Order: sequence, then structure tokens, then C-alpha cells
Amino acid sequence: MGLYLGRREFLGAIGVTVVGGLPGSGVFAAANRPNLVFVFPDQMRGQALGFLNEDPVITPNLDAFAGESLVLPQAVSNYPVCSPYRAMLMTGKWPHANNVLSNCTSNTEPFGCELQKDDRCWSDVLKDKGYSLGYIGKWHLEAPRAPYIDCANNRGKTKWNEWCPPDRRHGFDFWYSYNTYDYHLRPLYWSNDAGRDDFHYVDQWGPEHEADLAIKYIKNEGAKYRRGGRPFALVVSMNPPHTPYSMVPKKYVDMYAGKTSDDLCNRGNIGAADTKWGAYYRKNVKNYFAMVTGVDDQFGRILEALKQNALNKDTIVVFTSDHGNCLGCNGQMTKNVHYEEAMRVPFMIRFPGRIAARSDDLLLSTPDIYPTLLDLMGLESDIPQDMQGISRAKLFLTGKGVRPDSQLYIWVPPGKPHLGRRGVRTHRYTFMITKAEGKGPVRLLHDNVKDPYQLKNVAVEQPKVAAQLEKKLKKLLRDHNDPWLNS
Ligand code: CA
Repeated sequence: MGLYLGRREFLGAIGVTVVGGLPGSGVFAAANRPNLVFVFPDQMRGQALGFLNEDPVITPNLDAFAGESLVLPQAVSNYPVCSPYRAMLMTGKWPHANNVLSNCTSNTEPFGCELQKDDRCWSDVLKDKGYSLGYIGKWHLEAPRAPYIDCANNRGKTKWNEWCPPDRRHGFDFWYSYNTYDYHLRPLYWSNDAGRDDFHYVDQWGPEHEADLAIKYIKNEGAKYRRGGRPFALVVSMNPPHTPYSMVPKKYVDMYAGKTSDDLCNRGNIGAADTKWGAYYRKNVKNYFAMVTGVDDQFGRILEALKQNALNKDTIVVFTSDHGNCLGCNGQMTKNVHYEEAMRVPFMIRFPGRIAARSDDLLLSTPDIYPTLLDLMGLESDIPQDMQGISRAKLFLTGKGVRPDSQLYIWVPPGKPHLGRRGVRTHRYTFMITKAEGKGPVRLLHDNVKDPYQLKNVAVEQPKVAAQLEKKLKKLLRDHNDPWLNS
């Protein structure tokens, strides 16, 4: 009997009559539920995977992992910047419902922009099911508060870093984290029991240090990290390949020895060498790819630890990112824009014996990750009612089921939830409308098949397509009660 009959079919098959609500225990006995290892570097674009033959980047571990995984090359970050993505990931809700409408900084703190204590995250659900939960690396869901933590990233006009108190950790009982701190060669962390003033620095590249700790957590050295005999969920949130790109070990840069910056510039939306953004791309691309290669190397070490500890079979492994990186393409420095380099993220999931290795063009959206993972773990009836994402577990398991035909794109100016940019991305098009104070809406349409580098706005040339996509966009926004519709 397949483990992944739907619950109703499964219970029927074993002679249990189900009336009304289904029991919450799922098809797994509690102690046999799968583990979860969720690894997501920051700012790694979907194109930066060697096996896709898009960016000329070296990723041997991810290439091998892809061969064992469901790969979703069309997965996006719907609001491609740090905190809004992270809040959608944790809550399964869209930004207007979880109140993380911008990055969590001192500027947005007055709007209450941080992960809400009473939102029920997937980690809260797993905690209640007896899981051990570990979080290692960047959090960026806490609003910085005066008096500000005395560290870099908090010395400019905008403050970024903050401690996350234990009662705001949403079930994570092993904590080794920080809010925002970008000095990758000397990162800063709060360990589990450290108070707000008790952060420490480490003289090691962030992803390597975090992989060291993830491996200890997986091995559960000295039974210090998690409860034995119970399932666990471990998040490893690496900061590279985020800026500053120069903060990367030389050994990874050396892997690109002999490559000129022009060898690494293979996209049609990179400006000429004598333009501002063309020069920016050429200056940074080697280090950016070197960082991706370093992340790949450290991810490989985490996978090896799972294998060495005979945990491969019982562990769901996800590799993704919070958003991509333009790196100068289309005149954009980094992210928080509708372009493919910002929106598309890696998304690979491995669940041996359950999810067949393959590539699928599913239009995955960020809020869908939460219910999909819980559903895969046999916990679909524990998914909170107010959660807005849609489980794609059936599609992951069988390749069949209802497929979304679009993905939302969102950008909200701080303190103005009714303004900014809203758009939809489909398999063919990216359509977007911008609203600003005192200015009428501005429409933009890219045909991503005819114009893969999104160089032309064809909204006026193709009014029918634009109108159809506008209708689709407005329906999605109505479903989410986005105040933008009425502005
Ligand atoms: Ca980020």
C-alpha cells in the first residue's frame, strides 16, 4: 500500500470510516514523521544553478542534488526582498495579512513591520507535533528597537540588526541566529540562551560556520542539539551570496581562475562595459558566482552529513532562496523588482521514495511552501484555517492536480500599503501596474518568450494581453483584500 494515498483513501483502505473532520495524526506515526532540512541562501537567483546552463556558475553539489529532486525552475519569490519573503515563508500568508509589507528596519518599525507573535507559523505546528526545531543563520523578521544593538549594520541612518527574544521564535528551540548582519567573513550570532547584549562574533565565513553547526545538529553530538528518537526540522539561512560580494573565501574565487569578467557576462540585459551598470556587473559577477559556489560546497557538506547519519530516506530536503539578484541587469542593482533575475529562485525538494526526481514548470508561489511541506509531512489537517497558501503536495507527489496559471508580484512603499507595484507572472508574460501618490497607474508588459531579457514594454502594443492579465491580477488581489485595488 502506497504511503501517499490521500488520507481519506488510506483510512478507507485500512477499514476506518471517517466522519467529518479528519484526525490530525496524518498517515505517519508521530515518531516516524519525516525530518525537514530547509536550506536557503540569501539573494541567490534561480539562474545561478550550473545544471540549468543559464549562468556560467560552478555548482557540482546542487547539480547532483537536482538529479535526486523535484526541480521547479519557474518558482519565484512573489515579493523579492528579504523580510516579506521570509514572512510569507513562515506564515503562509500574503504581506497584507502578515503585516510584513517591507524589510524589517528601524524605518518600518513604526508600522509594526515584523513577524507577528500570534501568527501560527509552520514551525509552531511542528513544535506542537513533538518536533525538535533548529534555526541557524539569518532571520530578518524582527523590528530593530532603540536603544539599538551596537554593531555594524546599525550605525547608519537605518538600523537593521536586532535580537529575537525566545518567546518570538515560533517553536524553534535551538537558536543560532541574527536579524541582519552582512560581514560574511566575521559574522555575528546570538546563540540559544544569549541575552540581547550577549551576541558574539566568529572568524569564519558565515555559510561554512553555519554548515559546521548544521552538521553537529544533524549528528546530534552529545545529544546536545535535539531530542533523540523524535523528528526534527532544521533551517539553515545562509547570508551569501548577498552583498558585499568581496567577502568570500579565496578558494572559491580561484575556481573561476582564467575566466575574464566578459566570460561571465552571458546575459542579453547586461549593459556595455562603459555604462554604470555594465561596469557594476563586470566588477562583481566573479565574486557573486564564487559565493554561490561556496554555498554549493557547504550545502554539499550538509547533504553528506545526512547520508553519513543514515537520514537521507527520512528527511525532506529543500534548497531555495529568498529572492534573486539582478547584479546590474536591466540597470537594477539587486532585487525588489519584477525582473526575472530578482523574482526567480532555485527551488528543489528531495524526498526519497516519495517525490520522483524530475523538472516541472509549476508556477510555485512563496506562501504555498508552508502548506505543501506540512501536507507532505502528513499534517494537512493541522494547517491553520487562515493560512492563504495552497498545498501543492499532490502535484509534487503525483505530477497531477490543479495548477496555478500565474504568480503575484508585489512591492509596497513603506507606510503606504495601498500604493506601489502589483503584477502577475505567467509562463509567458510579466505584467505590472505601478501606482504612486498623485500619479495615475502605469502599465508594463514583457513577453518573456519573445524577449527573455525583458528589454521592451509591450503594454501599448498588446492591449488585449495586457487587459487579460490586468483582470487576472485584480482577481488575485481581491482574493487577498489588497487595499491597492481601491487607491
Ligand atoms: Ca534577502
